[in-house]
Amino acid sequence: LTHFPYNQVLVLGLARSGEAAAQLLYDSEVSFKINDLTPIEDNQVAQRFDSLGVEVVTGHHPFSILDNVDLIVKNPGIPYDHKLIEEAEKRNIPVVTEIELAYRLIDGPIIAITGSNGKTTTTTLVHEVLNQAGLNPLIAGNIGEVATQVARVQREGQPVVMELSSFQLKAVQEFKPDIAVLLNITEAHLDYHKTMDDYVQSKLNITANQTSNDILIYNQDEAYLSRRVKDAKARLWPFSVKGHALTYVENDVIYFNGEKVMDREGVALPGDHNLENVLVAISIGKHFGVLNETIVNVLKTFTGVKHRLQYVDTIHARQFFNDSKATNISASLKAIRAFNNPIVLIAGGLDRGNEFDELVKSFDSVSHCVVYGQSAEKIKRAAERLNFDSVTLVDNLEQATNKAYEFSQPGDIILFSPACASWDQFKSFEERGDMFIDLVHKFY
Ligand code: ADP
Repeated sequence: LTHFPYNQVLVLGLARSGEAAAQLLYDSEVSFKINDLTPIEDNQVAQRFDSLGVEVVTGHHPFSILDNVDLIVKNPGIPYDHKLIEEAEKRNIPVVTEIELAYRLIDGPIIAITGSNGKTTTTTLVHEVLNQAGLNPLIAGNIGEVATQVARVQREGQPVVMELSSFQLKAVQEFKPDIAVLLNITEAHLDYHKTMDDYVQSKLNITANQTSNDILIYNQDEAYLSRRVKDAKARLWPFSVKGHALTYVENDVIYFNGEKVMDREGVALPGDHNLENVLVAISIGKHFGVLNETIVNVLKTFTGVKHRLQYVDTIHARQFFNDSKATNISASLKAIRAFNNPIVLIAGGLDRGNEFDELVKSFDSVSHCVVYGQSAEKIKRAAERLNFDSVTLVDNLEQATNKAYEFSQPGDIILFSPACASWDQFKSFEERGDMFIDLVHKFY
């Protein structure tokens, strides 16, 4: 670790990112302690560091653990109104997440991507463009290793493409990407951030330390975002699917800086929302001097990341799409709008207390909706309020998939885009999406 003026670090919360941070501190011979809620008897990672001689406190969060600590590396999932974090703030102890540690190790261009929706798709796509151009990029975030692990294997000059959540960005201190990307901001995660302003501010932290040598790529079509980025010090690279910008679409042709890159038709990913992700990938490819031909080849062949409006198969003339990652309404709205053919929609899952009227209002091309899970009743009631009566309520995803098939016609899209989190019946959206894929293949 370079420029690391801290003598006693507390790693708060182990999980994947905490473990990687602890390992990095250990290897860098920085003194640190660990605090994690899972008791040491059931906590293999805590046991491992304990046997290495690291001070490990598990099962509770005593304030005394903050004594002598001059930096906290917090797991992104731990909320800021946690008692221990509030106490740390009183004691003026800085709180960061592991990306701040990674930042101090990386020696090469950092591309950091955030937004409410589309982060993983865009990160993967950008990685693919740079990879096809032979730049040998690394990827960090949801789909790859955590940032500290990536930072350790990164060689000088090698680009790192990072996917960042608002949870990680909230704690930014010195982190400064060479290229920052702001995709969009919708009202998600208000349970964690409390206010929209706090959420937006966290996302804007992605550009907080940027200078005029850096670039901020942002979605010009989001009025709220456009207003807020005007104060950024970075060079602004706007993109738009609606009007003129540095990277934009006009009459179904994609341009960068006035030069045609490709016809929209050549893009394999479906939907306007994915076009946003595509414009970002083009902007970054252009920044790195990637040839149009290389960019176009990637965009022609990239059909999406698993569980993100992923094309599964066509069986008996029905096209099946798995969008299990759509854990909120705005993600599902994008998915529904991505198709022209009639859709049989499968939705439902964890009830987070929101209403579903917005979802139902987007049902122009939905011929039937099958709902299951905790929020099924609520979606059905929203449909009743809006006089959409083709709704069937079932208990689980298996029944839902079978029902959706029954209601479908040849030529239809069968879209699983739940608009809810998975945790009422599944461990994760991945498990939920994998089950859908298995169920689809049973129609053979
Ligand atoms: P994230 O990593 O931000 O959660 P993903 O790429 O995993 O984003 O996509 C999550 C969901 O959001 C997908 O279901 C997809 O349909 C939708 N989505 C993808 N890109 C965008 C975008 N640019 N704007 C809005 N929704 C999007």
